[in-house]
Amino acid sequence: MKKMAIITSYFDGESYGLLGPQMAATVIQENTPFECIVIAVTHSDDKAVLTKALFGYFGKEMPIVGFSSLNGREDIFLFAKALKAEGAITFLAGPQSDVDFLGETGWRDYPHRFRGFSEAFSFALQGPAEQVFPVLEGISNGQWKNASGLLYTDDDCRIVQTPRQSWKNKFLRRVRWNNLYRVGQTGLENLTIISGQVIQHIGCPHAAQAKPVELVYPYHLDSKGEKRIRLKLKGCSFCDVSSDKGFHGALDLDTVLSQIACLPEDAEGRTISFELINENALPGLHRLIQESSGRGMSLSQIKLTLRADWFLSNENHLREALHLARKLRIRILLSSIGFESFDDRILRNLNKGLTVKTNIDAILLMRRLKKEFPLQWAYSNRDGAIHGLIHPTPWDSPETDSHIQQITASCHIHLDILPAHSVPLIIHHASGLADWIREIETSEEICFERYVSVIGWWNEALLKM
Ligand code: SF4
Repeated sequence: MKKMAIITSYFDGESYGLLGPQMAATVIQENTPFECIVIAVTHSDDKAVLTKALFGYFGKEMPIVGFSSLNGREDIFLFAKALKAEGAITFLAGPQSDVDFLGETGWRDYPHRFRGFSEAFSFALQGPAEQVFPVLEGISNGQWKNASGLLYTDDDCRIVQTPRQSWKNKFLRRVRWNNLYRVGQTGLENLTIISGQVIQHIGCPHAAQAKPVELVYPYHLDSKGEKRIRLKLKGCSFCDVSSDKGFHGALDLDTVLSQIACLPEDAEGRTISFELINENALPGLHRLIQESSGRGMSLSQIKLTLRADWFLSNENHLREALHLARKLRIRILLSSIGFESFDDRILRNLNKGLTVKTNIDAILLMRRLKKEFPLQWAYSNRDGAIHGLIHPTPWDSPETDSHIQQITASCHIHLDILPAHSVPLIIHHASGLADWIREIETSEEICFERYVSVIGWWNEALLKM
């Protein structure tokens, strides 16, 4: 059998499933003559051992290696480049693969901008995994360049890009959750997962439409907050999902239930815990639980990632789902709400589309529900939830710090809401905030340093001209 592998970024000591790469490997294995596995690579993995394991897996077959969900890991990009130099066919896929292959807008005119990863990969593939079928079919005779969603460098060193297809439900129904491997002392070792993911929304409804916004300068460049940049943004200004996918709509319930049916069972014969990928999951949650039970599935835990405003406006739907969850002994864990900040000025610049009051009201509701449904409802950091908090940001000031401290003290959010570590604001070169910072660079005739595909926004990142 011909062989392919997908390499993806992972964390040490974990055992969670990776929906995107594992579903892609399933689609390839079930629809082409290729066996396809996913190899999860952590920071501590020895790349020489990985190379040996990889070539052991391919044997005499031509190595074809996809790279997906790399989270900006430079060590894996360098590994891909070395693999390509050794004669492997390497390609970049998954979220942001097109823009990461192409490089930052205007990089040929501005040498400090990110040049892209086109040298590290034979090509990139953006969009649904099934677009790779004609590539795999034609790779041995060079007849693969007409496939959809493809980016490659032509003989004149120009990047050619073909239009991508949209997602088809029939390829979103199945995941072989046993195709995930880690590199061990003796080669590739199968990893048993204890939690998975199920996709219900492709993209995010908050990113459905571009809207005009005004964002202020970083505090270190304009402490009075008078200078503004006008932009059109889809969704939150920092978000990868919004810039990569926008919103492609919801999958039908039958497709979602088919994915749930693929999840392995735990020792008690119940479906392992899974994260439902849908920022507005509450309106359909009762029906999803009811139908899965009707099809004989015994769910253990559903993890939700929601927006605070949609959580509040769908309280009745959630209560309905919690009553049914009580009957069926299912736990609903609100594993993440992207609060992002407890200062309105910062929330406005993040284009979050909600206020501190909404965030506080959501916290109060989460706590009330815990009293009413102590066994079915979980939301706190002690339950394993990691709520979104972005700090530091370019707009931090003594005033915003003081607001956040007041809320922390008065609402005791350190007890159940705040994560162990906040996440600094990261500006990916293709996000909404990247347009903002490039506008500032042009207006002020300054340059911020690039850290591979990330743009620095802090004072120390200013380059001397
Ligand atoms: S951060 Fe969340 S709510 Fe905002 S656009 Fe991204 S997915 Fe949607």
